[in-house]
Amino acid sequence: MLADRTRKVRPSGIRKIFERAATLVDPIDFSIGQADFDVPEEVKEAAIRAIREGFNKYTVTQGVPELNERVRERTRDRYGFDPGASLITAGVSGGLLLSYLVLLDPGDEILIPDPYFVMYRVLADMIGAKAVAYDTYPDFTIRREALEAAVTDRTKVILLNSPSNPTGRVLSDDELRVVASFAADHDLTVLSDEIYDAFVYGVPYHSVCEHYERTVVLSGFSKSLGMPGWRIGFAVGPREILDPMKTFQQFTFVCANTVAQKAALYALEHDSTEQVKAYARKRDLVVEALEGAFDLVRPDGSFYAFPRLPDGLTGERFSERALDDKVLVVPGKAFSARDTHFRLSFAAPDDVLERGLALLRHAAEER
Ligand code: PMP
Repeated sequence: MLADRTRKVRPSGIRKIFERAATLVDPIDFSIGQADFDVPEEVKEAAIRAIREGFNKYTVTQGVPELNERVRERTRDRYGFDPGASLITAGVSGGLLLSYLVLLDPGDEILIPDPYFVMYRVLADMIGAKAVAYDTYPDFTIRREALEAAVTDRTKVILLNSPSNPTGRVLSDDELRVVASFAADHDLTVLSDEIYDAFVYGVPYHSVCEHYERTVVLSGFSKSLGMPGWRIGFAVGPREILDPMKTFQQFTFVCANTVAQKAALYALEHDSTEQVKAYARKRDLVVEALEGAFDLVRPDGSFYAFPRLPDGLTGERFSERALDDKVLVVPGKAFSARDTHFRLSFAAPDDVLERGLALLRHAAEER
């Protein structure tokens, strides 16, 4: 009855942990991928106003012109890159699906980092393409040798994610130059998922679009403004790629959420300095608490840490052990071919964070 692709796409291997977690009263939840603050008041007001003023119908496929203009202007201001076109998408997930659909034929390959955000592999499986991981362990940097080891004559796209989910790494300008020259040598399109670009802690942030024109940048508002439920994001890049994405949007999502588009105009003006400062402090708490007990690459962005476990302890076993203390973390194997690490989201109130970190440290040290 079902199509073959349903066999390729299995529910996540971490289901067991979430099933057990669902039975816990008052867990310390470090497994979630969303900010712990709420949408800014002026953005909420803008959405309510939009509904009252009748912005409840479809918008044009690509999204309202004023938001598209702002998104392109933002790309020019931040990166000095003038994108040929833009598209307002149903979250970054919407942008990812559309870009996979227009860039990859069945059998084509897309290079994704290992470790990676789970959707990158599954989307390839869904459309009959193949996600091939390039190794970034142990320090989560991109090295040319690792890219060369993964590329084949079926490779069409290389995907980057900076700041990263699950590692929190921010790619350096040098790494981005390596990617740009690699992509040029192999005639690849670069797909850059920059959804965490608002969360960068004291290091310079660069986008690969500064070095390579055939780049599609995906970003949005889900994480930076605490509005993942509003389902809005954007894509910028060359017109030859964005035009077919728009056509595919017409026949799938139709358009991004109308109300959220109106509110996003205010979201783009919002000053997030205070939130980012608070998250930088949370990052410091994580580093201080886990140092010594785990091998940790300091996260310079996003709100995740991806500590390495002591030898012999798998992410799965450690996540189960943490549940005994009612702490939820995700085993590394959910994001990787390896299970030597675990992911912790530090998007939690400081007191909860401190309590949970102490428990995790204790769980690692008791062995
Ligand atoms: N990319 C990454 C790296 C993410 O972590 C997430 C959300 N977990 C997404 C994309 C999806 O974002 P959205 O909610 O905007 O679809």
